[in-house]
Amino acid sequence: MLGGRATPLDFAPGLGEQKLDDIQGGCMCGAIRYAATARPANSMVCHCQSCRRVAASPVVAWVTFAKSEFRYTRGTPLVYESSPKVQRRFCGACGSPLSYEHVDTADFVDVTTCSLDAPWAFPPTHHSWLSHDIGWVKFGDGLPTFERSRFGDPS
Ligand SMILES: [Zn+2]
Ligand SMILES: [Zn+2]
Repeated sequence: MLGGRATPLDFAPGLGEQKLDDIQGGCMCGAIRYAATARPANSMVCHCQSCRRVAASPVVAWVTFAKSEFRYTRGTPLVYESSPKVQRRFCGACGSPLSYEHVDTADFVDVTTCSLDAPWAFPPTHHSWLSHDIGWVKFGDGLPTFERSRFGDPS
């Protein structure tokens, strides 16, 4: 966007009419699709080492849905256990990271914000796991930061 900040509508004409039951996303190749029927309960950017390695990216943005409001609508993602209590799902065809589930928060599923069709719809409210940050990405967004998880749980 030359000459100014982009607004959500620059990217998503008609977003204002988006209904809650239209929250959808999927992997890059389209083999896996998902839908949510309620707004995410949380939206954040994670700087932890586990997210960084699994996505090969400096940080990973996540939205959290109640599991009862989230479902895969096409295809079945593969599962990788990144730690004994954590299942991360991804597309077996194109590799897009899609979701994170922890046994201690079994009612919720974290979904990669940037796999949403409209990732601008739910901007993050904070950054977590700054204790793992690699140091060369500077956000300057003024959002609260946390050395570990905002909720004190492990990665
Ligand atoms: Zn795919
Ligand atoms: Zn993380």
